[in-house]
Amino acid sequence: MSADSTDDFESEFQPATDTQPTPDAVLEAEDLSVSYGKVQALRGLDLTVREGEIVSLIGPNGAGKTTFANTASGFLPYDGSVRYRDQEVSSVGQTALVEQGMIHCTEKRDLFGYMDVEDNLELGGYLQDDAVIEERKEFVYDLFPRLDERREQNARSMSGGEQQMLAIGRALMGDPDLLILDEPTLGLAPVILKDIAEAFDPIQEQGVTIMLTEQNVTFALKHADRIYLLENGDVVREGTPGELKGDDYIRESYLGG
Ligand code: ATP
Repeated sequence: MSADSTDDFESEFQPATDTQPTPDAVLEAEDLSVSYGKVQALRGLDLTVREGEIVSLIGPNGAGKTTFANTASGFLPYDGSVRYRDQEVSSVGQTALVEQGMIHCTEKRDLFGYMDVEDNLELGGYLQDDAVIEERKEFVYDLFPRLDERREQNARSMSGGEQQMLAIGRALMGDPDLLILDEPTLGLAPVILKDIAEAFDPIQEQGVTIMLTEQNVTFALKHADRIYLLENGDVVREGTPGELKGDDYIRESYLGG
């Protein structure tokens, strides 16, 4: 083999590198600050959620998690920047954000208590045509069989866990690109947390990116790809679950030592 052909061989058979292209940012906050009068709830927060990820914003009561979720979905005025797919949220507006696939499942769930499961779900699909509504309802019923069993039950008569499943199900009816889940595990029994966690994979398989705010640090560490820890409106730690589990401060303050 000539020197030239050796060179050709080497250039053709370079070892494969494992560098993957970085997925696009779906949601990106930069130097984001939000105040309620004199109370500053977010202080210069930087955060990125990339396509296909589950990113969790964790923190104790009053840290600013709901403020972030509400700001990202266009409910609150802010300083700095928060962008959904490169568009400044304040210039898009709430309705257009929903139309473009940013669906927010709020901490309070905001169900229609006197309506049954089926009607609550159909309302979540108000932007979809009939065929898509039927398809998505079946997806939700497969995801949460408890809802399937209770199609005609009024939302207000269901348990907290079932209501949470319905709130997530209704959000999924909107065919989300980005699903914002604000504290979905709050006050729920471990068995229900398992049902909710088991829904994440099929939701992600539909190409949905998830922004999850959580007080339940253990749950977030188990299910998120990346995590930001918020305290008093400041991000004080960020990293993968593996990185944060190895952090003394996180272990001592949030995982019982
Ligand atoms: P929790 O886990 O209890 O829901 P959180 O992390 O979601 O807490 P936020 O609800 O965002 O925190 O609150 C952040 C800060 O902003 C807190 O100090 C809270 O008291 C304050 N705050 C939130 N909403 C309002 C409001 N509407 N008016 C005045 N202050 C508010």
